[in-house]
Amino acid sequence: MSVNRGIVWGGVLALVGAVGACSADAPVDPTPEPLVYDVGGFRIEDATRQASAGLIDSIAVALGAAVTSVTGFLPEFTLPDDTITFRLLEGGGIPYVTTDALLIVQWNQDLALEYLPHQVTHLLTGYLRRPFLEEGIAVYATEVLDSTSMIMNPYRGQPPHAWVSLFEQSGSTIPLATVFAAGGLAYSYTGSSSDASAWQLFIEAGSFTRWVFAVFGRDAWLQLYESDDLATGLNGNPIDLERAWLTAARDSYPNPLTCEDALGTRGPLTTRDQFWCARARGQ
Ligand SMILES: [Zn+2]
Repeated sequence: MSVNRGIVWGGVLALVGAVGACSADAPVDPTPEPLVYDVGGFRIEDATRQASAGLIDSIAVALGAAVTSVTGFLPEFTLPDDTITFRLLEGGGIPYVTTDALLIVQWNQDLALEYLPHQVTHLLTGYLRRPFLEEGIAVYATEVLDSTSMIMNPYRGQPPHAWVSLFEQSGSTIPLATVFAAGGLAYSYTGSSSDASAWQLFIEAGSFTRWVFAVFGRDAWLQLYESDDLATGLNGNPIDLERAWLTAARDSYPNPLTCEDALGTRGPLTTRDQFWCARARGQ
């Protein structure tokens, strides 16, 4: 859908129907079908079947605000002219998107509407480039659009530059060549070595993207995105680029919070947090 269409918030929820079709021969699916709402120009599927009208409305409002802000920030991209679907699942987990279906998924136990600009960024670009570039712009856009918020996964507690400064102090920075080439940045909440590395890759991608915008400018970032190549996109040697980026991050936040202090700003540390902090210390 286009942001210019003008989203009207009537506050009235229209229950459209349930997802899926049944035939007489179809096997019985024990999973209840989600409730489907059409509100604010969005399709909202409630698989929990328990969301209040107020929650459905607030999801639509937050999604509309995210679409407006992200498309305003990245006018070079155009959202497909189809309805965006937000699906609320039962339980906990990492939010995700399916770009082809213009689908945003979050879990009711980990609902984070402040994460919507990140997810909308993925729908807007279509996630056509490597994860480093796609996650980098999603993290950076979120940081720019809500500079007061430090609570978004995966960089709770302090900005990506500060996290990178901390990695530098600990000697745990993942080299630029490695993160740029990373094939998948998916992580889970269960904690593992690959999880911890993926979490750090998001942070480094966001920090690098901020640095590219600040030093080279918007057109250079677009050139980088289009070329999908560091040397071509930024007309520089990757080793020199890495050195300058890391210097900028360290100089921006010479005294970053410790990992435990940063993550602890949102409550007691979890097992996953402790695992991530061990990774940040280079362990
Ligand atoms: Zn992402």
